[in-house]
Amino acid sequence: MASTWLGTPCGVTAGALDPADRDLAVELLTRVVTRAVDFKLREAVFERREAPERLRDVLLTELPRAEAGAVSVVDQVLASALPFCKNEASPRFLGFGDTGADLAALCGGVLALFTQQNLLDQDLDAPWATFAEIAVLRWLRELLGYPVAPPEQVRSVWDVGALITAGGTMSNTVAMLLAREHAVPGTMRDGVRDPDRHGVVVPAGIGHYSLTAAAGWIGTGTRLIEVDTVDYRYDQQALRRTLREHRGRVMCVVAYAGDTRTQTIEHLRAVADITHAADPGIWLHADASWGLMAALTDRLTPRLDGITEYDSITVDPHKVMDIPYNLSALLLREPRTLRLVGSFSEETTADRFDLGQASPFMGSRGWCSLMLWTTIRAHGREGLAARVDHRLDLTRRFTDLVDASPRLLRLHEPDMTAVAFLYLPHDFDPSRPDLKALDRVNAAIHDALLERGDWYFHRFALHDAGTIRRGAELHPLRFAASNHRTTPEHLRAALDEVIRLGRHFEHKRP
Ligand SMILES: *Cc1c(COP(=O)(O)O)cnc(C)c1O
Repeated sequence: MASTWLGTPCGVTAGALDPADRDLAVELLTRVVTRAVDFKLREAVFERREAPERLRDVLLTELPRAEAGAVSVVDQVLASALPFCKNEASPRFLGFGDTGADLAALCGGVLALFTQQNLLDQDLDAPWATFAEIAVLRWLRELLGYPVAPPEQVRSVWDVGALITAGGTMSNTVAMLLAREHAVPGTMRDGVRDPDRHGVVVPAGIGHYSLTAAAGWIGTGTRLIEVDTVDYRYDQQALRRTLREHRGRVMCVVAYAGDTRTQTIEHLRAVADITHAADPGIWLHADASWGLMAALTDRLTPRLDGITEYDSITVDPHKVMDIPYNLSALLLREPRTLRLVGSFSEETTADRFDLGQASPFMGSRGWCSLMLWTTIRAHGREGLAARVDHRLDLTRRFTDLVDASPRLLRLHEPDMTAVAFLYLPHDFDPSRPDLKALDRVNAAIHDALLERGDWYFHRFALHDAGTIRRGAELHPLRFAASNHRTTPEHLRAALDEVIRLGRHFEHKRP
């Protein structure tokens, strides 16, 4: 394709888009998209791996002085970078869910890049895009069960009740900011005066690092109050006790609708009831980064019972809806609470629908939400439900395979699509478990799979809920059913490989 001009990097490619070069631009972009589609359809997770230092030494070059032209640079990226890029859309990637492979979302993303709308301002910068974004936010509210006002009652940005952010981390941070203002109004203006009034209660051992970071970023200090868990949910007695002991000093209780490790959904209503009984002034935050999945299918929505009692909910479409980065949202039970942390720019307050006023930490930002708009319009809730149901079926197949093997041990009952499991060495004795040996062999399996790039399971630290020894720190492998191209045959082959590697490594003592 295009061999007549591929070899001539200068000239047409030196500048920005120009009517004279229209056909060449289309040709180059077509080439990029074609290769990008083939990249996502690639079977391998990685095609090449190198040590970080080696990549550093290749890539950290001097500032380029001479013109290379877009064509040559594109060629270089296609040839050099793609083999090293992780492809989560591979059916052999069994660790997370960030496939970014939804076709409607990809189209939305390309159009968002090209249209360059700035969601800071409605009338001038993003006349259509602003209302498409507001529509998306209302759809998310409806999915999670928050009330949605009739369109004519949306008179300004303060009636929307949600905002788009760059990820679950930022959504959680804005939630903490709201909790802080709610606990001590005027902190935006005066700063934090008494950090002890800003305690954040989290379940121990299953929390996401973003909450600790958020507490630091918003100036309340990173002293989170951890409460014991049972089966990866709050120990409710311990929660009651903690709230009693810290009376007047808790600004927020966080519950996970799908924690980051096992995707266990909290008993949301019970936690809300306990919190409200202790102190109705405490801000309740539900982190449904994964739990958005449960809102998409009737098979799981009952598990979210009580979530509408929470003051704020984080959802992470780039994690569970095959949407490319970066796309998360924070939803608010009371839309007007967002006023507490609005920005004060003179320039952006002129128009009533400027989303920039209600987007903490962000100024100019692109139309990422178009990816979600196109996805939801393309599939509707029914299509999205079918997709999640397929994942749940695949998860069931996976747990059946794990349970059928004497060499594999499952660590929890899956609520959604994550399954944490361990390879068990042949001489593993449950009455006297050698946890070091267990760690060693599972680490070796994980690293070998990663190095070869043909399968991927995630791995992390997890406190045992009681399968081997309650409270023991384990480092299991983690499956997540996230890719519609993954078949039961893939699962069988991947687990065969885990067992084969396990056999190999368990005999190699360090
Ligand atoms: C992934 C995750 C986050 C952070 O989301 P990002 O989009 O990576 O910023 C927050 N909370 C939970 C429970 C998560 O799993």
